[in-house]
Amino acid sequence: MTSYVTEPTRETPVLGEWEVVVLGGGPAGLAAATAAARAGRSTLLVEKGGYLGGAGTGGGLSTFCGMYSNVHGEHVLTVRGHATELLERIDRLGGLRAPHLSFADRIQAQAYDIPAYRSAADEHVLAAGAQLLYHAFAVGAITGPSGIEAVVVESKSGRGILRGQVFIDSSGDGDLMAWSGTGHEKADPYGDMLFPSTMFRINAVDDERAGPAWKTLPRLMDEAVAAGRPRFPRRGAIVRPQRDAIEWRANATQLRNPDGSAVDGTDVWQLTHGEVQGRAQAQEVFGFIRENHPGFERSYIVDIGPEIGIRETRRLLGRYVLTEDDVRSCARFEDSIGLNGWPVEAHVDGDLDIRWPYGDDPVGYNQLPYRVLVPSEGPGNLLVAGRCASMTHGGQSAARVAGPCFAMGQAAGTAAHLALKARSTVAEVDTGELRAELEEEGACLTL
Ligand SMILES: Cc1cc2nc3c(=O)[nH]c(=O)nc-3n(C[C@H](O)[C@H](O)[C@H](O)COP(=O)(O)OP(=O)(O)OC[C@H]3O[C@@H](n4cnc5c(N)ncnc54)[C@H](O)[C@@H]3O)c2cc1C
Repeated sequence: MTSYVTEPTRETPVLGEWEVVVLGGGPAGLAAATAAARAGRSTLLVEKGGYLGGAGTGGGLSTFCGMYSNVHGEHVLTVRGHATELLERIDRLGGLRAPHLSFADRIQAQAYDIPAYRSAADEHVLAAGAQLLYHAFAVGAITGPSGIEAVVVESKSGRGILRGQVFIDSSGDGDLMAWSGTGHEKADPYGDMLFPSTMFRINAVDDERAGPAWKTLPRLMDEAVAAGRPRFPRRGAIVRPQRDAIEWRANATQLRNPDGSAVDGTDVWQLTHGEVQGRAQAQEVFGFIRENHPGFERSYIVDIGPEIGIRETRRLLGRYVLTEDDVRSCARFEDSIGLNGWPVEAHVDGDLDIRWPYGDDPVGYNQLPYRVLVPSEGPGNLLVAGRCASMTHGGQSAARVAGPCFAMGQAAGTAAHLALKARSTVAEVDTGELRAELEEEGACLTL
């Protein structure tokens, strides 16, 4: 039974007012802030960490997925626009690897160096004219008759109020939509969420001897379990070289509570448990790799993701809910604001289940409708972009990766500008005008 204390009333300073306030600096948030600022809107991007990139940097991921689609067997760059410019900045810093084939060689992904991504993202967002507020943890929303009026943050400077006119929730966990009473859900109908992972990177690999370890290692791990070794945290370990093949990344852990359920990224005790468990699992899996796979004998863990990598928590209930069937049937929508070519990548209990588009020769991508960013009920000045947008558990298992999150973010920032221009709610934004603006800025809405 929780007990409560009533805190004394206090005066909280207003730190400023912006036309657009974006919460969370992952791929969705940094793209949203860039788009709103480039459209000429005073824009603040609020981030609890000291850098941008979200799970892509703070979770230690180091690969962009979902930038490419497999279109009838041809690998096509289907997320373009501001994201292309960001990747060019990373490349100029020497931090981008050429795309590689992943998952049975059916889809392309692209590895990057995390420090280069962090530096490039600073430059990208600031060059657009947005303002950054790092080390600011948003803890609440102030709402009124016209919707959300302000976000409340806590930081080393104390508590503060950030006023805005349009808000974009790209916190991954949908914090702002939860605090503002916006309709959302968590978990699938059986109470399951995608399992989180702790990422780690391995250095001093002899890549010639390691060979295509991403193919041989999962088999070695399965054979060891069949021979009596205790099960690994999960099957389907993803272990691949980085830009310089002396360094490899490993996506091979899976974080669960004592009752077997997925660690919930909105529960601070479960997050604490997951951090400890994730580091222990990283050491366990790495020990097996070093001792059992050629080329890793002299290797060591050079980094464990600073934060547990959360794949799924709250998801908006929006004007449209993108489903797994939409992803696998390559659905098209008149209000398309971008494309997703990533398959369903379901991190289920103990395993990884990849589900591809239906048929022998699929189009290979689905469109993302604007309506997945717009609450079906709730504040008229809130957009939700990224992994917490309006998707079912299955739909989110695909369109949560970086590429579609960049696309959703750019659309949200542009839509915020159009809502301000028309003095309308975000639901009333003219999607024809939105699509025209996105295409003008290089986005790919159809092929
Ligand atoms: C282990 C793991 C491996 C993955 N591998 C890949 C991969 O290889 N490639 C890929 O493309 N995708 C991968 N993904 C998917 C990845 O989560 C998404 O690509 C993407 O990061 C989601 O983007 P987002 O902007 O919606 O949210 P996030 O990246 O989660 O960013 C949300 C941001 O909001 C900030 N924030 C949250 N709450 C608050 C608050 N209250 N106040 C202030 N700031 C806040 C966070 O600090 C964070 O920076 C992986 C995910 C996990 C967990």
